Order: sequence, then C-alpha cells, then structure tokens
Amino acid sequence: MVVVMQKGVSQEQIKKVQAHLEAEGFSVHLSQGVNRTIMGVIGEPGQIDPQMLASLPGVEKVVPIMQPFKLASRDFKHHNTVIPVGDQLIGDGHVCIIAGPCAIEGRENFLQAAQAVKEAGADMLRGGAFKPRTSPYSFQGLGEQGLKIMAEARDLTGLPIVTEVMDQKSISMVAEYVDIIQVGARNMQNYFLLRELGKVDKPILLKRGMAATIEEWLMAAEYILGSGNPQVILCERGIRTFETYTRNTLDLSAVPLLKQLTHLPVLVDPSHGTGKRELVEPMSLAAVACGADGIMVEVHPDPAKAWSDGPQSLVPEDFARLARKVRHLERLSKLEY
Ligand code: PEP
Ligand code: MN
Repeated sequence: MVVVMQKGVSQEQIKKVQAHLEAEGFSVHLSQGVNRTIMGVIGEPGQIDPQMLASLPGVEKVVPIMQPFKLASRDFKHHNTVIPVGDQLIGDGHVCIIAGPCAIEGRENFLQAAQAVKEAGADMLRGGAFKPRTSPYSFQGLGEQGLKIMAEARDLTGLPIVTEVMDQKSISMVAEYVDIIQVGARNMQNYFLLRELGKVDKPILLKRGMAATIEEWLMAAEYILGSGNPQVILCERGIRTFETYTRNTLDLSAVPLLKQLTHLPVLVDPSHGTGKRELVEPMSLAAVACGADGIMVEVHPDPAKAWSDGPQSLVPEDFARLARKVRHLERLSKLEY
C-alpha cells in the first residue's frame, strides 16, 4: 500500500508513522517530493488496518496497490523517475542514445568505435566485457581488461559507459569502472543478482527477459528497488516468438504500456530486438515515436569482422544518419498539438 502524507507534515510525524509500520514488520520506502511525502509500504496485506493507519497524525490517505509491483508502480510515484548519469539525465524527456560494439574486442578497435559514436551524436557508450554467449566455445569477453579499455574510452570521449554484469562476484569490480550496470535478458530473473544490485549506488539498466511478461519484468525491477537502489532503467530488447525472420520480436507496445504502469525510464534496444542491421533504424525511430526515453544500438567499425552480433551492428556512417533522424524526430515529438 501507499501512505500519502498531508501537505506540510512534520518530519517528526513522518518518523512516527514510519516507526509504527516498521514495528508491525513492514518495510517502508520514503519518497519525499517538494510538496508531498509518500511511503511505499511493503508487507503482508491484512497485517494492519488501513483505517487506523489513515487516522494517524499527518496521514492524508492510505491507498492499496492492487498490482504485485509496488515501488515500480505509478501509484507509489506519480512523477517520472529521472536518473543522473555523469552530467546527463535519463528520463527527463531527452532521448538518450547509447551506442557501441556488442563486445570489447581490443583497445584500438574499441577506441575507434567510441570516437565514431561520439562524433555521430551518441550520449553514452556501450560494450560488453563479460559476454553471455549461447556457446561456451564462443568469445566470452575480455573481463577486467575490457573494463579498463572502456574507462579509457570514457576519458577519451567524455561519454558515460554501460556494461553488463553477469554474476554477484563481479559487481564490485564492474561498479568501480562503469557509469551504468546492465543486467542482460538472460539474467533478468536472477533474483540473487538483482538483490545484490539493489545495494549498489549505480544506475541499473534492466533488460527484459527473452520470455518475460511485462509483469515479471516489473517484478524483477522490484527486487532492485526493494533492496535499496531506486535507479532502475528498463530496456525492451525483444521477446522470443514463433517468428524466425527476426532474432526476436521487438515489443514496442511495451513502451507506452510501461509509461502507464511505472515511473521508471524505458529504453529500447532495436539491435537485439531484431537481429538485423536493416531493421535497426526504422525500429529506433518507431521507439522514439512511441515514447521511449532512449535507444541502445550496436555499432562496429567493421561489422563483417565483429566477434559477436555483426549482422545486427551498424557501421558508424549508418549510425550517424540514424542519430540525426532520431534527433529530428525527438524535436517533432516535443511539439504541442
Ligand atoms: C547485450 O546488450 O550485450 C546483450 C547481450 O543483450 P541481451 O541481454 O538483451 O541479449
Ligand atoms: Mn550483442
């Protein structure tokens, strides 16, 4: 449930209500805005009488949340969450463009890609140092050496960096180097990993699982939020369907739907979402048109030689055109009608 406090409530009243709930075994998440204080209360329903709670000094009303996700819901937080990353913001209405190779393959190659996406107008740089590959015999990523190359690319370009973490034991190492930690589709329901990421002071980019419903995805976000990290960014990356012409089916209807259900920023990855280079630009534009807060696109200096995901990677020139079109569409989408 959500406890909405009265306007002008004192800190002492807030503390008393919080202490009361915690003594009853609830966990309380405070959201203090300029005008309003709201408490997200997590625990077994029926444990407390909402009418009694509503009568406590300073409480305006008690709103039950029917959805299974609480902290991620719009009932808990009406305003869009805006996440600062370096000197940029994700979720403030600006379309954040994250681009870079699927994997970090080596220093020269990655720095070249980083420079190219920066010149083309990217806001942030992506690259995998730990790669979740279907085959254990495929390239698994450069590990910490890859993270060091990423950090060098950030120094060179000024772009914040995003990379995937695969297990709990690598979290502190990855957090030391990068600005956003990605949870890949294959780990969306790795609840132990999600809980640990809730203790980290870094934004978490949570990709949708390959066969996850929107509700399961929001419940995964809830694990991170509930463990103390409010900086969650959702990323639609396609789901598995019977269709074989595309690698996955990019579910763009998830974007406006999520905008109703949650206050969290929503990005779209049209590269993994389609698996086909020629579909990346149209689906990026569609993502912006339906209200995404950004896109994540794979770009490689020479996709034919890429060690992973070459067929869905754009050459820098094509990415530059895509970025120009996205900016154009972003301006149009801000017009009042
Ligand atoms: C990636 O972005 O590098 C990746 C592996 O994506 P996904 O988890 O969506 O497959
Ligand atoms: Mn990839």
